[in-house]
Order: sequence, then structure tokens, then C-alpha cells
Amino acid sequence: MERIPHFINGALISDAERYGPVFNPATGEQEKEVALASADRVEEAIRAARAALPGWRATSLAKRTNIFFKVRELMMQRRPELAALLTSEHGKVLSDAEGEITRGLENIEFATGLSHALKGERSEQVAGGVDVHSVRQPVGVVACITPFNFPAMVPLWMIGSALACGNTVLLKPSEKDPSAAIFIAQVFAEAGLPAGVLNVVHGDKEAVDVLLEHPDVKAISFVGSTPIAQSIYKRAADHGKRVQALGGAKNHMVVLPDADLDMAADAAVSAAYGSAGERCMAVSVLVAVGNIADELVEAITTRMGTLKIGPGTDPASQMGPLITAGHRDKVASYVAGAAEEGATVVVDGRDQQFDSNGFFIGVSLVDHVKPGMKVYDDEIFGPVLSVVRVETYADAVKLVNDNEFGNGVAIFTRDGGAARQFEFDVEAGMVGVNVPIPVPVGTFSFGGWKNSLFGDTHMYGPESIRFYTRGKVVTTRWPDPSTSVIDLGFPQVD
Ligand code: NAD
Repeated sequence: MERIPHFINGALISDAERYGPVFNPATGEQEKEVALASADRVEEAIRAARAALPGWRATSLAKRTNIFFKVRELMMQRRPELAALLTSEHGKVLSDAEGEITRGLENIEFATGLSHALKGERSEQVAGGVDVHSVRQPVGVVACITPFNFPAMVPLWMIGSALACGNTVLLKPSEKDPSAAIFIAQVFAEAGLPAGVLNVVHGDKEAVDVLLEHPDVKAISFVGSTPIAQSIYKRAADHGKRVQALGGAKNHMVVLPDADLDMAADAAVSAAYGSAGERCMAVSVLVAVGNIADELVEAITTRMGTLKIGPGTDPASQMGPLITAGHRDKVASYVAGAAEEGATVVVDGRDQQFDSNGFFIGVSLVDHVKPGMKVYDDEIFGPVLSVVRVETYADAVKLVNDNEFGNGVAIFTRDGGAARQFEFDVEAGMVGVNVPIPVPVGTFSFGGWKNSLFGDTHMYGPESIRFYTRGKVVTTRWPDPSTSVIDLGFPQVD
């Protein structure tokens, strides 16, 4: 059986005390196993990253930039190969996997502009003969901990900026689909990144615990579920690290009565069921305002009947399987529970039969959902769309703002004034106006509010430059030594 190794100090290392299974979700077969790092292995990788830091920090911005250009070129050439790897371990359809890589590469493109992003400021003559300037310097060794649902894009969200800023990195990807991280690290090595600057260590809680407490790890970037994000934020902060921990979501799509309902139905189906609902920006709640709910539910139901679910390698498939059998069964339990809670299951994905042992489930639509029902309150992370019916715009905004999560939100309307008011009122980090999945482009930053993000800075884009650097302010003067005197007073500006 193929064994997925660590990548430490430029070398592939596959021996371990423990291994975890890696499945092909489309067949249900375990095809590979992944080495799970012990505390000693993680410490070895931290030592490698620590040792590589002075050399990488001192590498000119021009040389760093060239490496990012080369990474982008190689990644575009190998995109089909990486997409096939993503599909074989995650299950998403190949076109979606290619899209994930392309969106991830936006962060490498952003990193090619690092000499602009890292520019400091300068003020001349702040006092007589005194100038001040600021620089941004790397924080040191950065640990990046990533989830299963975007095995290429989320690592690229983090490592582009972290490396551009002169840090060295230890990436701990999801143990469910770990090969993409190794693929990416090898591309960086081929592009000229020195050994030890980017290391990949696989593992679970045992490995993460070391990263959260080790004194040589200075910053943690995490993306995953809310309970883990919150605990990582607390523990790492307790150990003096800066942390950005992005968590789960329950993304609402508000449809106003004046919206084009066919367009809204197309968007809802695409955003709810794409990647089997395993996206942190998936639409999971449709909020129908006024009297449009019946028509919208019918339009969505009709479209659901046309969806083709099958292996991600089949070009005809629009949706693949879920990540594990356990997750598939958990998703199914929410649909079962919805009927018991008083909601109406309009389309029950459990009814669809699949001629495969893969982790497939059909798409579900649940109407008359209300807060307080588990199908509304929990992040399901599967192909289940809930419909909440509300009377007014104000009811819709209250529903969204009362929700514990605040990752993405969308409004569908033809009324520019209403959309502008929504942007002003709504409590979420990323808002789409007639855009159901408003993931910001790489020149902006990504992050939610409330229980969707623990920390102060959003991920990638301009905010990542602040997160991955420390500011330093230098005050300078070149006086004539003959004017020097002793003065015990506190320095004042004049
Ligand atoms: P997860 O929280 O189970 O795992 C994320 C990472 O944490 C993995 O690397 C995993 O190995 C590690 N981990 C798991 N349990 C741990 C523990 N007890 N202690 C330390 N580390 C642990 O998340 P997942 O199931 O891989 O990913 C899906 C979740 O990620 C969803 O909740 C989704 O909304 C969220 N997500 C959020 C965003 C965002 O930008 N906000 C993006 C993608 C995914």
C-alpha cells in the first residue's frame, strides 16, 4: 500500500510509529496510509524550520519573488496531476479540484508582489534633524494547520504570504487527504526554495499539541471546525503565540421578493451542493422573504432532479461523494432529525441509491426550518439546504445576525438600495450581492466574524502581511558631535 511521507528539511520520511488510513471516497476503499508524526518527529521538523530561518530571512526579495513566479508556472503545468490527486483523496469532481488550485494560486500571485507589500513608511524631520522609518520583519517559524475540504487551496492561502514575508513554515495538513501538501512542497523545492524553509508533517492531535506549545513556533494559522479553532486559539495564545483560527460556518442566502427567482434558484443549487456542501462558504440556509418561498422551493426542487452525482473522475459528475462513511452517516442523521423536529423534507437525499461502496449521498432540501432545530443550528457540512421563510427584510437580517456564525452571506435582489442597506446591516465577514459564494480574490483578505474566526487578522491578502510580520520603528539622527550635551529629561519632539 502506498505510504504518504512527511517532507522535512527537503527529504521524504515515511517511517512512523503510527499510520492513518487514506480512502478513495468514490470507491470506499483504503488506497493509501499516511505517516502520523510523533512529538519527536514534529520537533525534528521545527528544528529544520528554525535552522533554515536565518538564511531565508536574508534571501533578497528579488530571489524570493523569482521562486514564487516559478511555483506558479510549475503549478499551472501540473494542475491536472494535482487535481487528480485531490479527487482521489477528497472526492470532489475534477473541474472543482482544478478550480480550487486556480483560486489557491491567487495567493502565490499575491506573493510575487511581496516587495510592494512589505514596503515600510518613512517620515523626515519629525524633530530637528530626526527621521523615523518603519520596517516589517518575519515572526519566525510559522505553523499552518489545514482542514480536509480544500487540501490545496487552504495551504496556499497560508504558505504564500508566510514564506513571502521571510518566515519558515511547518504545514500540518488534514490527515484525511494529505498528499496535496507533499505535492505542493515538492513544487516549491523544484522552484528553488531551500531545504527546511517549507516542511510538511502529517498527524493528528498529538502533532498539533506540540506546535501549540513549542517555544520556537511563533505563529499559528489554523482553518477547521469551530470547536477545534476555539481551543487552538486559546492554547496557542496561552503560550504567547499570535493566532488566526478560522472556524465553521452557516452561510445564509437571502432572497428578496424582487429577485430573479430562476437566477436565485440556479445560485442556491450551485452553492449548496457544489463540492457536496463541504465548503466553508457553501450556502446552507436559504432565507425566502415575503411570498416567494413556494415558487423558489419548486424551482430548486426541479433543478435538484437534474444533478448528476457520481465519481469525481467522471466528467459527467457534478457532485462527488463525502469525505468519509462516518461523515456521510452524520449528514444523513440531520435529514432524519429534521422531519422529527417539525421541518418538511422536500427532497430526501437518503432515498437515492448508488451502485458503489463510495461515500455517496443524494442532495436534500428541507423547508419550514426554524432556529432551534438542529438542522438549522449545527454546521452540517454536507449537501443539505434548509429553507427558512420570513416575512420581511428586517426579519431576514435579524435571523442572520442572531446566528452564531458570520462567515459568508449573500443577498439576491434587483434593488441596489436594499443591497447597500444589507451590506451596512449584516454581521458577517464576507458579503455577496447576487454572488452566492463571495470568497474574496487574493488581493483582499478572507475571514468571517463571530464564531467563524478567532483572532484579529483575516487570512491571505493584505492582512496576512501584518499577521506574518512584526513591525519595527527606527528613529535616526546624525547630529554634529560638537553639539552633544548630557540631558536626563525624557526625549521631547521639537
Ligand atoms: P477539523 O477541525 O476536524 O480539522 C482541521 C485540522 O485540525 C486538521 O488538520 C486536523 O488534523 C486538526 N485537528 C482535528 N482535531 C484536532 C484536535 N482535537 N486537536 C488538534 N488538532 C485537531 O476540520 P475538518 O473536518 O478537517 O474541516 C471542516 C471544517 O473546516 C468545517 O467546520 C469548515 O467550515 C471548516 N472550514 C472553515 C474555513 C474557513 O475559512 N472559515 C475554510 C475551510 C474549512
